[in-house]
Amino acid sequence: MAVVELKGVAKNYGGAHKNAKAANAVENFNLTTRDGEFIVLVGPSGCGKSTTMRMIAGLEANTDGEIRIDGRDVSQVAARDRDIAMVFQSYALYPHMTVYDNMAFALSLKKVPKNEIEQRVNDAAGILDITHLLDRKPRALSGGQRQRVALGRAIVRDPQVFLMDEPLSNLDAMLRVDMRAEIIKLHRKLGVTTFYVTHDQTEAMTMGERIVVMRDGHIQQIDTPNALYHAPNNVFVAGFIGTPSMNFLKMTLGGDGKTLTGQTAHMVASSERQLIEAHKGRDLMVGVRPEHLILTTDETAANVIKGEIDVVEPLGSVTMVQLEVDGHRITAQLEGDTSVRMGDSIVLTCDSARLHLFDADTEQALPRHEHRTETA
Ligand code: ADP
Ligand code: MG
Repeated sequence: MAVVELKGVAKNYGGAHKNAKAANAVENFNLTTRDGEFIVLVGPSGCGKSTTMRMIAGLEANTDGEIRIDGRDVSQVAARDRDIAMVFQSYALYPHMTVYDNMAFALSLKKVPKNEIEQRVNDAAGILDITHLLDRKPRALSGGQRQRVALGRAIVRDPQVFLMDEPLSNLDAMLRVDMRAEIIKLHRKLGVTTFYVTHDQTEAMTMGERIVVMRDGHIQQIDTPNALYHAPNNVFVAGFIGTPSMNFLKMTLGGDGKTLTGQTAHMVASSERQLIEAHKGRDLMVGVRPEHLILTTDETAANVIKGEIDVVEPLGSVTMVQLEVDGHRITAQLEGDTSVRMGDSIVLTCDSARLHLFDADTEQALPRHEHRTETA
């Protein structure tokens, strides 16, 4: 177990001979884990997740900043001396070795005594429920079993830190959900500080104690799943976290600091919000999640979005409808037994407290102070 600290960490793959200054693959990455914390890195493909993991592992040198493990600067420490175990998407098992030997291999390289190796492999196999597979070769295993062996190989090393880079991407959807739960249980049992990478926001939300949302090499927000969902820092995080994605409407904020007007939509921001004076009379991006939109007949409600349904998706428990409103695509998640049809004109409303407000230019969330602070 360990505390991992990243301070101003950056990676530039450009090298010394680059002609044009390439953008850093990772830029100014700052994070300090708790001892034993489960951290998830999430973001679109190419945003720098693997690069960050490889820098922590020591497989890639950071070109700026500091990486510390339990206070020790490891920038100059070789990968094999960092006491970190990595699990990848491709399990990279040795095909000619049995499961036992695959798990034992790293330990025998380290000259760990035979009886201790046996003990550790058997313990890990027990935890992962693969004891009956120890004599098999990888080709005689299912995808899920191979993934367990890959995890087992990491566990026997009893590392200070686990790094898992999209370890479930090769598994089918059902198995992925099972393994997700297994990894969480494993983490609870072993308590090892873990970095887990995924591009799947649902996986991130269900697994992370804290989630680091990345985009183009930059951290967008580090927060608990709940905080990311309820208080996203910017339009990107708001749209990335949650399925279906948050709806956005461009609206103008009135001089009262509360009234929001679109071409046809109108809304009233909730009064606990302390909007910045500078935004009065200006355009905002107003966000509202599909699950917070409610069907109404009352066009005089404070918050009103009107339109004609052009997509209906009955999913049983809920019915998704889509409509075009003021040039924006809007998705609403309605009760499963709602009887709506394509072509219906509907009115949607929501609680003002559910509105997310963003500066239309910077895409940053407007400050929300649930308890007003008095300023001079
Ligand atoms: P992710 O894991 O989030 O998909 P990566 O960390 O693999 O993203 O990549 C981040 C960026 O760095 C991408 O633009 C990618 O093309 C670039 N990159 C990754 N590895 C290398 C490398 N070895 N050499 C040059 N560029 C790389
Ligand atoms: Mg990657």
